[in-house]
Amino acid sequence: MRRISIHYTGFRDCPNCEGRGDDGSTWRPFECRRCKGSGRLITGVEVEDSVEGVLPASHYDFNALGEVFLLDYDEDEEFEVIRPASGEGPRGPSSVDPG
Ligand SMILES: [Zn+2]
Repeated sequence: MRRISIHYTGFRDCPNCEGRGDDGSTWRPFECRRCKGSGRLITGVEVEDSVEGVLPASHYDFNALGEVFLLDYDEDEEFEVIRPASGEGPRGPSSVDPG
């Protein structure tokens, strides 16, 4: 089956919660609605298609939560989406940008 692999290549601290992931309340803090508690927003992704290789940015769209939307794909075409492993997520140690 065709496989679509997603890698996150860029992050920034969530400006809504300043990277905390919640509203900072000491009593029952609420999860930040903008970043869903991760504290970070996705600013860059790389999408690799098992058939076509790395897709140009015009072939997909993504949002700050890391959800990727493929454009120009047939709706009835089946493919498997490989999401980043937990270690590659916004809070993963291997993905923290030292900058
Ligand atoms: Zn946030």
